[in-house]
Amino acid sequence: MINRRDFMRLAAVGGGAVFVSGLGRSALAADSTGSVAPGYDEFFFVQLSDMHWGYAGPANPDAANTLKKAVVTVNALEHQPDFIIFTGDLTHTTDDPKERRTRLAGFREIVSELKVKNVRFIPGEHDASLDNGAAFKEFFGPTHYSFDHKGVHFVVVDNVSDPGASIGDAQLDWLKADLLKQANDAPIVVFTHRPLFDLAPKWDWATRDGAKAIALLMPYQNLTVFYGHIHQEHHHQTGHIAHHSAKSLIFPLPAPGSQDKRTPLPWDPAMPNNGLGFREVEAEVKEAQYKITEFPVTRG
Ligand SMILES: [Zn+2]
Repeated sequence: MINRRDFMRLAAVGGGAVFVSGLGRSALAADSTGSVAPGYDEFFFVQLSDMHWGYAGPANPDAANTLKKAVVTVNALEHQPDFIIFTGDLTHTTDDPKERRTRLAGFREIVSELKVKNVRFIPGEHDASLDNGAAFKEFFGPTHYSFDHKGVHFVVVDNVSDPGASIGDAQLDWLKADLLKQANDAPIVVFTHRPLFDLAPKWDWATRDGAKAIALLMPYQNLTVFYGHIHQEHHHQTGHIAHHSAKSLIFPLPAPGSQDKRTPLPWDPAMPNNGLGFREVEAEVKEAQYKITEFPVTRG
């Protein structure tokens, strides 16, 4: 079901929409006029992922501009989101701690142009695995935390600061305690960088102790996970829990486990933004449903 407002938005940017639900309940509620009543029960957030600021290479010769173009596109969205979240790999990895900070500062400078000022960040392994998140914390604060917004509880899980790709028992204890404050049917969203399930372990598309995290999430009936890292859309269920990965803003990667190495898909000068993009998520709080609309980097 696509209402008029969605249609206008899609028509404007040529995006595609999918409707998702952790529970398989009926489609998004809309009245007979095709409009959704505005109010407390719905809001939008935007997820951007895997910007890799500082990357230079053939997989994206336009790397100096892609993120800036995405910021312009987000600022032009018809419905400005309540908040924006960057789900990791803000910067491209470097062995040099000074250069890491230069890249984090450059990234922060570019995204300071976003009109929406409620912006949240989580690290990826490119930002955090070489110094256990030290530089990231200097710029953006804690690497795991939770917050509430209009009736939804959001939890950020860090599965990248440990170079072994583990969440670790201390953070798992924190996660358990954080979730215990929620009712079993509370709407909960988890943001993380790597998939919590074994998507393609040979490509580092897994979390070593992700099964422990999923076990802690399972008692919650209305819980959905959004992540990044794999540079493409992917939708997966572990039981009743849906996991949705986002596209990147640097280069697309092949389908999970489809070849020996996870080499970037080649850049196509005729379609320089092909496979790149970000998403807007409309949260239907009462139904704990999330409608995902994918957007390209630039309009037209
Ligand atoms: Zn990553």
